[in-house]
Amino acid sequence: MSTVEITRARAALLGLAVGDALGMPAQTLPRAEIRAHYGRITGFVAPFADHPVSHGLKAGQITDDTEQTLLLARRLLKDPIAFDDLGWTRDLLEWEAEIRAKGLRDLLGPSSKAAIEALQAGASPEETGLKGTTNGAAMRIAPVGILFQPDPALIARQVARTCRVTHNTGEAIAAASAVAAVVSAGLAGRSFEAALDTALAAARAGQTEGSSHGEGDMAGRITLALQLADRGDAEALIAGIGTSVASRESVAMAFGLMRLHGNDLWAALQAAANVGDDTDTIGAILGAMGGATGLSLPAEVEAEVLAVNDLPLDSLVADLLAMRATLAAETA
Ligand SMILES: [Mg+2]
Repeated sequence: MSTVEITRARAALLGLAVGDALGMPAQTLPRAEIRAHYGRITGFVAPFADHPVSHGLKAGQITDDTEQTLLLARRLLKDPIAFDDLGWTRDLLEWEAEIRAKGLRDLLGPSSKAAIEALQAGASPEETGLKGTTNGAAMRIAPVGILFQPDPALIARQVARTCRVTHNTGEAIAAASAVAAVVSAGLAGRSFEAALDTALAAARAGQTEGSSHGEGDMAGRITLALQLADRGDAEALIAGIGTSVASRESVAMAFGLMRLHGNDLWAALQAAANVGDDTDTIGAILGAMGGATGLSLPAEVEAEVLAVNDLPLDSLVADLLAMRATLAAETA
């Protein structure tokens, strides 16, 4: 594995954690409420008392976005290509039970929750994810980008396998494929802008997977977000794209904020934390894409998130990159 791969894979996971933790106190809130509670968020802050989702978390603490990314990474290391749907379902249920046991409220998202309940009621894994269009797939997809080479069809196929139980729709798979492709291309040495052709091709390939429920042109949504960002005005981007848990909004928004802030990943993550609604997931996706494509964060910011959370980044990166090399050799 190359130094670039090691540096960028680590930066992707750390950037994801930073974006997640920075947006955590603002998640689900409209922009005006974020301002009323915190002013402008420019660093890690604790959620206000009785926050509907983040209640009980500390300043700098990560949420489901980072935790499920690590969970998916470990599941993929056991079985990267075929992917074990039932094993993955067990992982998600055990994870949620741990969160509940800690008395926290940030549980499974809407698509994962509905799919797992249907599976437990006897539905087939082929059916449970057919309406899952939200961003839970994209928020945790970085490990697929770390494991696989930046070939759009390969990325879309592997993303679709990890999405089958919970997010088996063209919208969710296309959105997650675009994010995974940026991460993969970044590890191969590309910048964010240089990774976009591959990301849009992966989105188009991912769009043909799963059910047609939801957005029919995720690549078009990402392109629109990039064009709105070119006006240099965050308001146009927010009005035109939105910030909800829908993949067509929050995943496109992460691409738009990357374009808007160019090479300043910290500014982009601060913008995500204040943008409204799904702030932590927009930040997590942005942080993963920015870190993977060679952007850096202030050292004190990285140190703070590592001090607050137990993140086994170095061992995980070593394992994932060893697997990336094996998989590349097998498909060469
Ligand atoms: Mg979250």
